[in-house]
Amino acid sequence: MLLLALESSCDETAVAILSGEPGQPARILASEIASQIELHRQYGGVVPEVASRNHSLHLRPLVEQALAHAGVNMRQIDAFAATSGPGLASSLLIGATAAKAMAAAAGKPFIAANHLEGHLLSPFVDTGIVPPHLGLIVSGGHTLLLDVEAPGAYRKLGSTRDDAAGEAFDKVAKMLGLPYPGGPEIERTAHDGRCDAFSFPRSMMKEPGFDFSFSGLKTAVLYTLSERNPETGTPLPDDLADLCASFQEAVIEVLVVKTIRAAKHSGRRLIALSGGVSLNKTLRAAFEKACHREGITLALATPGLCTDNAAMIGFAGLLRAFAGESSPLDGDIDPNLTLAAR
Ligand code: ATP
Ligand code: FE
Ligand code: MG
Repeated sequence: MLLLALESSCDETAVAILSGEPGQPARILASEIASQIELHRQYGGVVPEVASRNHSLHLRPLVEQALAHAGVNMRQIDAFAATSGPGLASSLLIGATAAKAMAAAAGKPFIAANHLEGHLLSPFVDTGIVPPHLGLIVSGGHTLLLDVEAPGAYRKLGSTRDDAAGEAFDKVAKMLGLPYPGGPEIERTAHDGRCDAFSFPRSMMKEPGFDFSFSGLKTAVLYTLSERNPETGTPLPDDLADLCASFQEAVIEVLVVKTIRAAKHSGRRLIALSGGVSLNKTLRAAFEKACHREGITLALATPGLCTDNAAMIGFAGLLRAFAGESSPLDGDIDPNLTLAAR
């Protein structure tokens, strides 16, 4: 089956073409991304109006580019998928409407995909098989622990009560005067720092349950900054690496401890990490070490599938299509779509 997928939930316009058969590795024939990061950087975050306008500008040329890279024509596509939520309403509408129009014109099925399901299943694109596991999504908007029985059978174990892990990286980076998005900047800066230089809080580590909280950590960094330099709060250059390393370590330790605990609780012997924060090399290494110690297998998405992309949406779409599912053309987008409810 050949599937064309669109992703436009936030600030990346993405188009992918996948070829797949049930139980086989999915082949990514094309995965195109028009990133708007540079555009939004001047505002320090994503501006919804700017994002949706750019989705409509980039989508059509990107579809043509994807078809050319994949070496297929529109008539060969068997199904069309698009992210229907969660995300920014005005951004979601562009991709979802375009995919429905293409599906209607071609007389082929349309599949509304859940962006979080795209992230969640992204570590399994290479094998095409999703075994029962414990999934941790760590992205810009979510920190979500899910017990996964099979594609579509999810049970939420915990999530963040305030900021998402990626959001904490972005907000702390902003405080430190580092550009958006903050995650990669903090990782780079932390490289030369000591992770035990500052003792930042590990929120909710001792509490039962699997929820997270990162806003206290963010405030702790802010206090440290204002103590250091009451006038401007700007860190001294030789402090910056230590601050980044100590902050990063605090986030990672909580994520590792709670995820391992959740895996033991649910009896899962496989942990899968997804979302933009899972690109972080220190985080990957910490999970590898902890999983090795516990005899748990770790599945990581390839780097190109961690931040927003359409290939992960395509894979989620393929699995739905294999199950005989499709979505009505008059279905709506849902900016607040959740995952475990299904
Ligand atoms: P959601 O999927 O929840 O709607 P999103 O799509 O914006 O959010 P992603 O694109 O998966 O999130 O990831 C972006 C986030 O990942 C940003 O917060 C970014 O700072 C963070 N991030 C990217 N690379 C790294 C890194 N190397 N270390 C830490 N965080 C990172
Ligand atoms: Fe995302
Ligand atoms: Mg993003």
